[in-house]
Amino acid sequence: MKIDLTVLNKKTLSDLTMVSVQAKHLGLKAYLVGGVVRDMLLGRASSDLDIVVEGNAIELAKAIASCAKAHITVYKQFGTATVVFDNGVIMDFATARSESYLNSGALPIVKPGSIKEDLFRRDFTINALAVALCADNFGELQDFYGAYQDLQRKKISVLHEKSFLDDPTRILRAVRFEARLGFQIEFKTLSLLKKALEAHVEKTVKAPRYFAEFRKFFMEAHPTTGLRRLASLKGMNFIKFGFNPDWRTLSQVEKVLKKLKRDDFYSSKDWSTTFLLAFFSRATLTQISSYAKHFHLTKSELMSLINLPGSKKILKALQTKHLRPSEIYEILDPVDLEIIYFIRATTSVNMVARRLDQFLKKWRMVSLAINGEDLKDLGCKPGRKMGALLHRLLLNKIDGKIKSHRDEIDFAKRFGAVLFKN
Ligand code: ATP
Repeated sequence: MKIDLTVLNKKTLSDLTMVSVQAKHLGLKAYLVGGVVRDMLLGRASSDLDIVVEGNAIELAKAIASCAKAHITVYKQFGTATVVFDNGVIMDFATARSESYLNSGALPIVKPGSIKEDLFRRDFTINALAVALCADNFGELQDFYGAYQDLQRKKISVLHEKSFLDDPTRILRAVRFEARLGFQIEFKTLSLLKKALEAHVEKTVKAPRYFAEFRKFFMEAHPTTGLRRLASLKGMNFIKFGFNPDWRTLSQVEKVLKKLKRDDFYSSKDWSTTFLLAFFSRATLTQISSYAKHFHLTKSELMSLINLPGSKKILKALQTKHLRPSEIYEILDPVDLEIIYFIRATTSVNMVARRLDQFLKKWRMVSLAINGEDLKDLGCKPGRKMGALLHRLLLNKIDGKIKSHRDEIDFAKRFGAVLFKN
């Protein structure tokens, strides 16, 4: 079956044609694989392009990079390379390989293989599709494992019975893809998944690696569906909850973000930390510090989780009537930015939302035209008082009382004279 690659944007199509030409020139066979093929067939947008090569992938990547004058990073020990085109498109090249697992959860033994073998090591049939980029069959779908049928039936199926034992992180991936695509885990696959969970296969994987896959739920647009499903399958026991995940807050974040993402300012933000905070918001500090160690939470995630209980006080302060912009600035300026975004994504109080919007989009960006050097020229001595003067200037500028460079100088002279006299 031929795939209509013209659904991809023109530049991507011409990049893939270049891969085809260069591969032929080098006597290699190249294929477009994985998520991009799945998403293309589902009519969904996908970002990065994964290319698998029967033969030396690095050689092909180097040829492409040189042809397109693109940036290349080579990972010799893995036989892979990443090419970044000047329009930001990223193409990952890997040599086709076969894998075998000696122990459950351990990393596999890898050796070069065919495209068929390479696809067989993948998690689910829907991710085991390739499109040939060879000159003689450019655009031909390579479907060895019934993937196209599963896409049409909307099923998530593993490729073989030992799949979840070989790699238990696939349990999490199955549930995540099911929720993201609105698919169902296929009957037999579901039974294998349940058996794997009953046998606690996740224990064979190092906790940080398992959590790294789990945290991808928070990167989804609607994490709650998948997380609830995982919980109902008893797939979250690995966290050893002493608390109930805060479903209400998670749903509230999803609801608010649905609207917020229509705003350019918020649409490009990565909201995964907000979901992580919502998920763990009922955990005690002792639990949080234990999760941080066990799952290798980042330092900034740990800090945000520790600061989270303080958000209630900030929310209350933001509900005070008749606050000047500078007063709101003073409340929010010392607060961890992720906590501010968390409050924004959970509040249903319009006045609070408006104040947070103004702080994030406007007041946080205000800066002075003059600096300490200018103040020195006006006769101020560096030190605490000068810091106080600059801060007072900034607050007045946020309140709109100071507008121009001239205003700043005038204010500095007037207020500085009082400040430095005492
Ligand atoms: P997206 O990036 O949109 O979340 P994706 O399918 O590209 O989806 P990635 O996690 O980027 O997912 O993985 C790229 C490909 O690598 C997948 O399509 C899948 O074939 C394969 N893959 C990733 N993780 C595993 C795994 N644990 N076991 C087997 N194959 C995997």
